[in-house]
Amino acid sequence: MSKFWSPLLHKLKPYVPGEQPKSVNLTKLNTNENPYGPSPRVLQALQTQVSDVLRLYPDPNSDELRKVIAEYYAVNPSQVFVGNGSDEVLAQAFFAFFRKSSPILFPDITYSFYPVYCGLYEIEYKTIPLNQNFEIDANDYLIQNGGIIFPNPNAPTGIYLGLTDIERIIKEHPENVVIIDEAYCDFGGDTAVKLLADYSNLLVVRTMSKSRSLAGLRVGYALGSDDLIQGLHRVKDSFNSYPLDRLAQAGAIAAFQDNDYFLMTQEKVIRSRETLVKNLVCLGFEILPSKANFIFATHKNFEASWLLEKLREDNIIVRRFSHPQRISNYLRISIGDEAQCENLVKSLEKLVKQF
Ligand code: PMP
Repeated sequence: MSKFWSPLLHKLKPYVPGEQPKSVNLTKLNTNENPYGPSPRVLQALQTQVSDVLRLYPDPNSDELRKVIAEYYAVNPSQVFVGNGSDEVLAQAFFAFFRKSSPILFPDITYSFYPVYCGLYEIEYKTIPLNQNFEIDANDYLIQNGGIIFPNPNAPTGIYLGLTDIERIIKEHPENVVIIDEAYCDFGGDTAVKLLADYSNLLVVRTMSKSRSLAGLRVGYALGSDDLIQGLHRVKDSFNSYPLDRLAQAGAIAAFQDNDYFLMTQEKVIRSRETLVKNLVCLGFEILPSKANFIFATHKNFEASWLLEKLREDNIIVRRFSHPQRISNYLRISIGDEAQCENLVKSLEKLVKQF
């Protein structure tokens, strides 16, 4: 607290990201990064930018990248917005679309950055409880609101909601913006981008941090109607004209141009997830059905906080959320490569079998 801070700053409750440990000798399964590095073509493209060219500002609107993304999803470049990670894209979308007289809606168990943006922009919100199976029920979102947002698959549950349900929600609220945060959708979900042709109130937000192995480059993007994308550009150009540097633009373009690599790593992560789920079920864990690059697991005989501590002693880090209470006995475990998953299973086997 400081006398220099504004009254709003005093009230903010900032987001706390998962730990980024300094030690490299850890099996890091706590922040849903991809266990595989980016495509070799990305690394080559980055090299082309490590030169005198860095004295020049980058393209403020990332036109070439937006064109490549537009081609990939078969939309117009005018329907694509890019930002410094999808967190930035989300922040700008909250500012652009959610400052209405009615509260916005999101699930009670979801990405914990959403209430933080609401605090920053003084947006009112109402949380909608997940059902008893930890699923989003579309019927709960047919009420009056000032906008709707949720991840699909949801985080940290990993549960995916079908496009028919998503469409019902979007269709019900033509005057409000519905944001589908598809950070994890490439690991088994079907994208809502397909619905863009029919609904101008839909914004799909995506990231290159997970399925494209580029968390360190910070590239996120949104797809929507021209109207929504123009709105986002107005916010961006009132905040930072150059959100993506030269390396980020070049690397992101190269990642989209190497689709084979994307498909190969995507398949490996999905396969590892299925094997990990089987192995952990054999150890007595209950696991929510995941279409993401993480699983949400609980064990009725062991406290999640104890398991987390013991895994840490074995140099394995996973994540637990102490709030809300309903999920406090769950561990969120990112899908690692084969060796990391085996390591995790061995360590958990040792813990649960000693009793
Ligand atoms: N949405 C969700 C649901 C997430 O879990 C994350 C990752 N923390 C993000 C968005 C943001 O990802 P990034 O800023 O790396 O694009």
